[in-house]
Amino acid sequence: MDHTSLFTAALGLQAPWEVTRVSFDPTKGRIDFEVGFRPGTRFACPACGAESQPVHDTLPRSWRHLNFFQYQAYIHARVPRVRCRACGKTRQVPVPWARPDSGFTQLMEALIVTLCRAMPVRQVAALLQVGDMRIWRILDHYVTAARAREDFSQVRAVGVDETAARRGQDYISLFCDLEGPRVLFGTEGRKAAVFERFVDDLEAHGGCGENIKELCMDMSASFRAGAQAQLPWAEITFDEFHVIALVNEAVDAVRRAEVRERPELKRSRYLWLKDKQAWNQSQIRQFHDLSRRGLKTHRAYRIKEALREIFATATNPAEAEALLDKWYSWARRCRLEPIKAVAATLKRHWQGILNAFDSRLSNGPVEAINALIQAAKARARGYRSPQRLITMAYLIAGDLKHLPASPYATATAPQGRP
Ligand SMILES: [Zn+2]
Repeated sequence: MDHTSLFTAALGLQAPWEVTRVSFDPTKGRIDFEVGFRPGTRFACPACGAESQPVHDTLPRSWRHLNFFQYQAYIHARVPRVRCRACGKTRQVPVPWARPDSGFTQLMEALIVTLCRAMPVRQVAALLQVGDMRIWRILDHYVTAARAREDFSQVRAVGVDETAARRGQDYISLFCDLEGPRVLFGTEGRKAAVFERFVDDLEAHGGCGENIKELCMDMSASFRAGAQAQLPWAEITFDEFHVIALVNEAVDAVRRAEVRERPELKRSRYLWLKDKQAWNQSQIRQFHDLSRRGLKTHRAYRIKEALREIFATATNPAEAEALLDKWYSWARRCRLEPIKAVAATLKRHWQGILNAFDSRLSNGPVEAINALIQAAKARARGYRSPQRLITMAYLIAGDLKHLPASPYATATAPQGRP
């Protein structure tokens, strides 16, 4: 086998395409493959499919391919255009190794997609010496194509949560399939309108708003309004995570008001908000000291912990309701305004909170997905736009079944297996 036929085989090219020339320049760190087709070859018309149309002219194009050892590899070809005698159109013939208009081979794009699932785009760009804008365009293409083939017809239970693309700004709302768990849909903003967009997207994927029987979310007015308008069939659950987060805000409000007269409360914020199992030695000592000083903050903390205890121990809605009623009268009589206010808020959503004890449905899977996305976001040091965060959420947590596989996984798979 001469070296051009060796490379023709290694690149997976089939007639009429073949490698005609290889040039290797170690000083520039690159290897270039000239690919061509035999003179007189005829091609099918890309517009109408008519077979055996003669070549009208050719245009030179280049594609970046997988590295050849440590060298960047490029494929160059004069791509034919046919002037079709059947339909009269002049069209460029697609090449088997690349998508139309891409400057990369499909294997190179598959590698880029694979790497971006595990590391930040910026690092992939540096590693492959490719501009990060080009990488984002590739990700957008493959994520959109893969999502178009996803089936949401079996989705019954949905959790929705908000997350920021950058620290404290550019919010997106993420809708997750609680039974996946997987990200179904991400969209900019956190207003009621996000529910309308979700239902449109659900229907575009064979799903149906009436199928959604369970909805897990926070108690924000905009989410409630959106759910009411778009998913009135769903039983709403306000999950433990969001309920406790709300009460934690009240505890912190009590501490902020009290710290002015009680300086010993300084630097104790996380003590009161953190799970006590997560306290370190100095926080345990700090609590031991502060808990004996008759502080309002400590009282607020005990009310919050009592609520957490109910979530941890109640096994059914009836038991939970009895315990929550007792908790509510304690919280309403505590003379701590922020706690009284949050207790009133919870009381307005009693049924949604009680539902958490029925279905045992929680946004746990959504929180897990959110953690994955936050970790990617931290590695990337935030995303420049909400759309990039959404693309990344689909890529790493969308459970997309039609993304290109790693070129190396395919190359090493035993014969006969996918
Ligand atoms: Zn044609």
